[in-house]
This record gives sequence, structure tokens and C-alpha cells, in this order.
Amino acid sequence: MVVEDDRAIRSLLQSSLSVEGFEVQTAVSLSEARALLQHKPPDLIVLDLGLPDGDGAQLVRELRKQHSTPVIVVSARHQEQQKIELLDAGADDYLSKPFSMAELLARMRVALRHRGTTLSAAVTVHELEDLRVDLLAHRVLRDGETLHLTPTEFKLLARLVRSAGRVVTHRQLLCDVWGAEFTDHTHYLRLYMAQLRAKIERNPSEPRHLLTETGIGYRLADS
Ligand code: CA
Repeated sequence: MVVEDDRAIRSLLQSSLSVEGFEVQTAVSLSEARALLQHKPPDLIVLDLGLPDGDGAQLVRELRKQHSTPVIVVSARHQEQQKIELLDAGADDYLSKPFSMAELLARMRVALRHRGTTLSAAVTVHELEDLRVDLLAHRVLRDGETLHLTPTEFKLLARLVRSAGRVVTHRQLLCDVWGAEFTDHTHYLRLYMAQLRAKIERNPSEPRHLLTETGIGYRLADS
């Protein structure tokens, strides 16, 4: 389901996604989206933030009370704070306008796959190029060599592995790794991320695995 009031973007998404084999429903407002959701929840929602009858965040909050349908938010770059609220409210990922279809399709694949795996088995092994993280064995390898992480570094990496390929907000990371009372302590995150990069990345100043989403959070690369 594509929720977008901009006619040009809406029809571009509809035609491009149809070509890729998706069956696309469109809604131009929150009220249309709500009506469609009551009828039959889609497999995935691409959601614009600024809609004529309200904010996309409202829809995410309503949706999360009943459904785990993946939501990918598309928004103008200046709506940073709203993007963070949406991710914290349960949206799966975001793209800033203008975005490429290739980018959107890649994010959609990750969101759909992730939703599938949370229903069956949780992700326990992450492998990309020189890095291998085994959550059950509690082991992190680079080029086959064991890396020694502190418990907090491992917890932080494990949290990102569970959402590999998706952005995780500063708030979510602080809450899940340090606890709900630490959500304002972004300096913890900066410090531990720097330590993790120093251990994991071949070139910590040009990270290949632990990617920064400026102003939003971090993403563990999965391709
Ligand atoms: Ca709009």
C-alpha cells in the first residue's frame, strides 16, 4: 500500500512497483489508508509523512496496536525529528526524498525478509565480507580471527545484528542496550560506537559495517 498525496510520486510508485510484480493499492490521505487497512491489511506500507488530513506517524501508532505490517517512511529531508518519532513508534525504515526505486526496493526486501524471520527463527548469525557475528556462540570474527569485545560492545553489536540492514534510532539503541532511563545519553552511544568501529572496521573512519544515519541512528550493513 502506497500512502502519498503527491500525485506524481504516487503514480510513479504505483507503476514502478507493479512492474516489479507487486500488487499496489494507493491512498492519498490518512482516512483513505484507514479504510483500506480495515478491508485488508497489506504486506507492506510505503508511507509519506505530510498528508492532507494529518501526520503519517498517527497511522503508524494506530497500525502497531493491531498489525506488524512493515512500514517504510518516505519524507522530505528536513523532517528529521518526525522521522525519528516514526521509527520509535514502530516504522521499519525511512527514505529521504528524492530516493531511487532501487533504494526503495532494497529497503522493501529487507523489511519483508525481516518480518518473515521474526515470525520463524530470530537472526543469530550475521555474515558480511570479512565480518562474522555469531550471537549464540557469542563470537565475533574478522577474517577468521576472534575479536575481543566488552559485554556492552557485544550487546550493542547484537542489537544491530537483530535489525541488520535496517536503521535503529539512537533512542532504541540506548533503551535496548543501556536501559530506558538512558535514552538521553547519546554520548555513551558515540563512545561505544567508536570503540566498536576501531575493533570491527578495517578503516574506522570509512566504516563498511557500522553505518551512521546522520541525526537518526545507525545501520549494520547487510549487503
Ligand atoms: Ca506529502
